[in-house]
Amino acid sequence: GGTIGILGGGQLGRMTAISAAQLGYDCITYAPERDSVAAQVSNDFFCNRWDDRAALAAFALKCDVITWEFENVPVEPLAPIENQIFPHPRALETAQDRLNEKRFVDQLGGTPAAYATVDSREDLFAAIERIGTPGILKTRRDGYDGKGQWRINSARDAEGMRLPDTPTIYEGFVDFFAEFSVILVRAQDGEVRFWDSAENVHEGGILATSTVPASERVAEQVGPARKLAAAVAQALNYVGVLTCEFFATANGPIFNEMAPRVHNSGHWTIEGAATSQFENHIRAIAGLPLGDTATIAPRVEMRNIIGKDVHTAQEMLSEASMHLHLYGKRQARDGRKMGHATKLVWDS
Ligand code: ATP
Ligand code: MG
Ligand code: MG
Repeated sequence: GGTIGILGGGQLGRMTAISAAQLGYDCITYAPERDSVAAQVSNDFFCNRWDDRAALAAFALKCDVITWEFENVPVEPLAPIENQIFPHPRALETAQDRLNEKRFVDQLGGTPAAYATVDSREDLFAAIERIGTPGILKTRRDGYDGKGQWRINSARDAEGMRLPDTPTIYEGFVDFFAEFSVILVRAQDGEVRFWDSAENVHEGGILATSTVPASERVAEQVGPARKLAAAVAQALNYVGVLTCEFFATANGPIFNEMAPRVHNSGHWTIEGAATSQFENHIRAIAGLPLGDTATIAPRVEMRNIIGKDVHTAQEMLSEASMHLHLYGKRQARDGRKMGHATKLVWDS
């Protein structure tokens, strides 16, 4: 037993809390919102702001171990309680800024898309000159689900563009034939286990489906991608679940970004793997032995339920091999992740 604190109140926290409860832990959700979807299944610790140091100190007193489910938690206020936090907040620091993240991966011998920092129009034109088009301008911080990204198809596009008033990075558009993710869990003693890599399809910058096994062409690239992900985990002395997203290209895997947490492309592991990403994250941060990550069905298909599709989601249960997860969000806004469904396919 014991108490696990989770920074962030979204569906990732909700599913983590459900796994923690199964293992006999109490969870407390720290979030600057009331009745978050995680707080529906855990104790609620309301804060006015993420960086309310007094609130964080009071929260930490209630918790044996703290983790996060939200990537953009401000890092600096975590310093006084960092010994309680797994993974260590240095992982957040690295992943929160796309520039840091890419430099870090470069140093480890990984291959990100060509990139350049852009803080002015001159920078943007220089970046386009060097890297070429098409490309994508991305805010360095705070982006998710493709928000804070602008496709640039030509230098002329850039002329008419208004830059956001926050630091950005220009990335060359990667000519990929597929996308996949590597999800690993690293224990406090350094043991690393990988789940099978899912092939991921995004629609409009939002994950639509994750399928295991990945196609053969993708599977060939998983080896080197795992090597890089393991190097990232090792360099950060990481504890918990870590995700790295990759583009599969004719020249091998190109690193897209990392998520220092459980990940949407790993939701299939709840029913499709011997131990889910959520359970193994709890095991790792609590200092328990890791569970088997093997896939247990010949094929597993995860589909996100986005926006108003949630209203008809229960119809999917007419298929007996389908499992439904609804996140308890009250408003089905366009583009909002409302739930997901996982199908185990036994006869493929
Ligand atoms: P999330 O954190 O929710 O995964 P995000 O907002 O951080 O999303 P990215 O992963 O940077 O977004 O991009 C979202 C998707 O947009 C990618 O999975 C890919 O499909 C496409 N994309 C992003 N960058 C590139 C690129 N340089 N070349 C080609 N496609 C890209
Ligand atoms: Mg991201
Ligand atoms: Mg992404």
